[in-house]
Order: sequence, then structure tokens, then C-alpha cells
Amino acid sequence: MRGAHIEEEQLVLHYLGALDPGRSDLIHRHLQVCACCQAHADEIVETVAALALLDEPDEAVASDEDVDPSTRPGER
Ligand SMILES: [Zn+2]
Repeated sequence: MRGAHIEEEQLVLHYLGALDPGRSDLIHRHLQVCACCQAHADEIVETVAALALLDEPDEAVASDEDVDPSTRPGER
């Protein structure tokens, strides 16, 4: 058993909803009693929200035009 703080990766997964319900619940409970992890979690929430915004495809600017038509796989 570990009484350690929640790792950042776990917090991210928690807010992405990618964790098991049981594990997510443990994190939720820890956050309620640990001001340190709460502060950390606030930052994670903002990060996750920002990432979610970046995921929006409506402003995807395709700036890379480094696709060279002469480099085709399977051609020697
Ligand atoms: Zn903690």
C-alpha cells in the first residue's frame, strides 16, 4: 500500500476519464483531503482543458508542406 501523493500522470488520466472507476475514486478521495494534490490538480485541469481545445479540429492549420512527392516508399 502506498500513501503517496497522486502522480501527475494519474491525475491527467483521472481528468481524461481514462482510469478504472475504483482508481479514479481513490484519487478523488485523496484530492478531498490533500491540499497539495488539489493545487496540483487545478493545474492539471487547466492543462487537460487546453489540450481538449487543441484537439478541436476546426482551427487545424496545416503549415507543414514538407511532403515531397518524389519520395515514395517502395521505390528504389
Ligand atoms: Zn496528495
